[in-house]
Amino acid sequence: MQGRIKRKQQERASEERSATQVAAPNVTCALCARPLGARVEWHHPIPKSQGGSVTVPVHPICHRTIHAAVSNHDLAERYADLDTLRQRDDMQRFLRWVAKKPPDFNAPTRQSRDKRDAAKSDL
Ligand SMILES: [Zn+2]
Ligand SMILES: [Zn+2]
Repeated sequence: MQGRIKRKQQERASEERSATQVAAPNVTCALCARPLGARVEWHHPIPKSQGGSVTVPVHPICHRTIHAAVSNHDLAERYADLDTLRQRDDMQRFLRWVAKKPPDFNAPTRQSRDKRDAAKSDL
C-alpha cells in the first residue's frame, strides 16, 4: 500500500518538471545549431494539432522556414525527427545560407531605410 502512494508522488513531481520550459543561456537552435538570440520560438517537432506536446527552441527565422517548407501533416508523418528534416534540399540550402548570420538575424522584411542600408554590405 505504501509503495503505491510513493509512486504517485514521483509521477506528479516529474510532470511538474517537464512542464517548465525556460530558455537557458548557451542553448542552441534545434534546426541550425547556431546559438539562440534574444528571441526564441518553440517548435513542436510533432505539431500540437497532431497530438505533439514536446517543443524545441529555434530561431524565429528557422521556425518560419520550417513551416514555410513543410505542412503540419508532413511534419508529423515524416519530419518529427529534425535530422530527417535537415536532409531536405531546401533545408540544406537554408542552413548553408543562415550559418553565417548573427543569432538575431531576421529575414529582410519591410524595415526602415536605415536598417536596410546597414545590412547592404551583407546582400
Ligand atoms: Zn536556427
Ligand atoms: Zn513550429
